[in-house]
Amino acid sequence: MATVAILGCGYGGSAVAISLAKRSNHQIILIDQNPFHFLQISLHHCLAYDVAPASVIVPIDRFAKRLGSRVRFVRARATTLDEENRILHTASGEAIAFDALIIASGATTYFPDSVKQLREYAHDIKDFRGALRIRQAFESLLLVRGEGHIVVGGAGLSGVEIAAEMASRIRAFGASKIQVTLVGRKPTILPAMDEYLIGEATARLTALGVKIICGEAIKEVSADSVVLEKMGSLACDLFVFAGGTVAQNIVSHERIAVKQTLQTREGSPIFAIGDAAILFDANGKQLPADGQTATQSGEHAAKNAIALLANRPLTPFRGSNKGVMVALGRHNASGLILNRFKVRGAIGGAIKDAILWLHKRAIAGF
Ligand SMILES: Cc1cc2nc3c(=O)[nH]c(=O)nc-3n(C[C@H](O)[C@H](O)[C@H](O)COP(=O)(O)OP(=O)(O)OC[C@H]3O[C@@H](n4cnc5c(N)ncnc54)[C@H](O)[C@@H]3O)c2cc1C
Repeated sequence: MATVAILGCGYGGSAVAISLAKRSNHQIILIDQNPFHFLQISLHHCLAYDVAPASVIVPIDRFAKRLGSRVRFVRARATTLDEENRILHTASGEAIAFDALIIASGATTYFPDSVKQLREYAHDIKDFRGALRIRQAFESLLLVRGEGHIVVGGAGLSGVEIAAEMASRIRAFGASKIQVTLVGRKPTILPAMDEYLIGEATARLTALGVKIICGEAIKEVSADSVVLEKMGSLACDLFVFAGGTVAQNIVSHERIAVKQTLQTREGSPIFAIGDAAILFDANGKQLPADGQTATQSGEHAAKNAIALLANRPLTPFRGSNKGVMVALGRHNASGLILNRFKVRGAIGGAIKDAILWLHKRAIAGF
């Protein structure tokens, strides 16, 4: 029986663990710096919805126990990798020996140095603690002050979902003196997404009273303002930054260019998946760094790790994008299923909620 280590228990790492536990008799060591699996895709719920923040995390201990006694959870931050001796070192001094390793350490928010004071004043959406702080600041504006300005920097999927959820709750509460502004660098919101989704999201955000500013770069952030390159200063009581991500690999801040088998090198027992890797579909098109890519690559890496340990041939990863759903405020979403079938409104919201629920059920097991 061999030992497979999984670095990171996010969307990709949890898929690896489920698949390995089901298909093999190997010992599985799950390593994560946090005691919880963070349901990032449901983050918008935690920020502005009437649900408890605890609903967007699942304790990894509980998840590991559910998978069986061969799965051990180590709560630690991995710091260095000794590839030659197959040992992963952690900040707490542990040396975790493995026969195969799957790097699933995801990405973290990228705070460009070119934006002054960004780190000091931006709330980070990729970290559950950041999400808790955003929620507290948001509720204090909504429920106590009843007025103010919220600026969401970054108009990609996460920025749009957060702005829509906040605006939707502000509207439901009747707090007409709170303004949400969404600022994006590119000419439209949701750059690189389908025209249908851009149109749907723009219309819904506008109906919810969100001010959309596109083609603008943020230059500086302070305690009460956000300065834009062309338009100048915007009043701001709460700034949420969803402007981009950078891989959080222990080897570098670059996403790992893996082989088709998801190995980091030809013949290596080390694999990389999810946001930590650059992944392609069967036609050679780069896949988006999202939850479904992380899950698909996780399942494939598990199969290939089992094959490698059994001296069987490995197979190439053939990920495919099954579509995208954009949450646009409570019980509302627009999407393209299989990149063809358009859905919107309450039906879209029900589909998006079902996707989030199914993932949570796979982890929490209810
Ligand atoms: C607000 C928001 C909305 C999103 N919406 C969608 C959506 O609608 N659809 C979609 O498909 N995707 C969405 N995404 C993207 C999706 O969440 C990510 O693509 C997905 O989480 C990537 O999975 P992963 O396993 O690669 O990384 P993650 O899920 O980020 O997991 C990485 C894990 O590694 C751990 N880790 C990292 N470094 C170390 C270390 N050195 N030592 C120990 N542990 C470590 C982390 O603690 C974490 O648990 C959204 C993301 C955000 C933030």
